[in-house]
Amino acid sequence: MTQSNQKRIYLSPPHMGELEQRYVAETFASNWIAPLGPQVDAFQQEFAHAVDSTHALALSSGTAALHLALQLVGVTTGSEVLVSTLTFAASVNPILYLGGTPVFIDSERESWNMDPTLLAEELERRSRIGRLPAAVILVHLYGQSADLDPIIAACARYQVPLIEDAAEALGATYRGRAVGTFGRAGVFSFNGNKIITTSGGGMLVSDDARLVAHALKLATQARDAAPHYEHSEIGYNYRMSNVLAAIGRGQLSVLRDRIAARRRNFEFYADALGDLPGIEFMPEAAWGQATRWLTTLLVSPSEFGADRNELLRRFDAENIEARPVWKPMHRQPVFAAYPVVGGAAAEDLFERGLCLPSGSNMAIVDLERVATIVQAAHRAARPHSLPLAG
Ligand SMILES: *Cc1c(COP(=O)(O)O)cnc(C)c1O
Repeated sequence: MTQSNQKRIYLSPPHMGELEQRYVAETFASNWIAPLGPQVDAFQQEFAHAVDSTHALALSSGTAALHLALQLVGVTTGSEVLVSTLTFAASVNPILYLGGTPVFIDSERESWNMDPTLLAEELERRSRIGRLPAAVILVHLYGQSADLDPIIAACARYQVPLIEDAAEALGATYRGRAVGTFGRAGVFSFNGNKIITTSGGGMLVSDDARLVAHALKLATQARDAAPHYEHSEIGYNYRMSNVLAAIGRGQLSVLRDRIAARRRNFEFYADALGDLPGIEFMPEAAWGQATRWLTTLLVSPSEFGADRNELLRRFDAENIEARPVWKPMHRQPVFAAYPVVGGAAAEDLFERGLCLPSGSNMAIVDLERVATIVQAAHRAARPHSLPLAG
């Protein structure tokens, strides 16, 4: 229930730059209002260059990109796929589209991403019983890289293909290199709330030319090379429209600014709230630079004086959009039947975790409105900790 008549502050709204409309106008002027076209070609090239990948394929969504990546590394009916449990359902759904079975892996505390030790142990155990998975999906959450080195090493040891779900982490780095470019394939999203957006869209990147060529074919209804329409496998309609690629090109040109703005949001919140007892921000692990796509924090109710849900209620009453951290996949009714390795860390991050409004177009007054609500919740619960007057 919203009582405030103040302007709504969104969690992560679109933020257009100056070039998007010009590129879109070009598509209209040339009548390339179709999937494929010169804007798609240019967007793919510019994107591959931005993340330093050999190939990039623009698609209708990040979910579509993940679906194709899984199919092309061999996930099929009966396959098992290890995947981070702390994520959005779109990381997992494509496993099920292919008739596979997810096996969820818990988070570590340094970056909140997949725990490399649990992954290595699970791969070792499965290797002993002859039941290695068909793939590992590693999610880079909230704009921060997972600890890639030990994860890559564990996958390499058992020759299990690694797919990176970097939908939330465009621009984040691991030891100086862009996430999404370490595995067999990487997946990005341009959904409306991501760090850059085409309103909806995704990108598949890989250094494997054959994988990308096959993905292109599957995404275009799996048409064989023939003068007529000839098909020898099942395809999809997953290509990105030329109009949306035009938006993507403009957005990509301001990615650096968007990362800087989101990191500034984080610094504002950390300065304003970091000293409150019971407030703990998502750490930035030493192995890379996070984009702070969303500023996320943990609330310890006994020290802070109120719990995460109380903060959500206060934000809602002030017309501010905030969200809990992702509910782990092993706790989702739809995935409850599948195995999980560990799970307690992700459950704790979910129970106490909060995502603050983090748009790159937030004004200082907006950030202040958000911070004031958190401070007020703490003061309401701890009236005696106020400095005494006189
Ligand atoms: C947004 C998101 C996706 C899905 O991307 P879409 O483009 O919306 O299909 C996948 N994984 C994660 C972690 C996401 O946040």
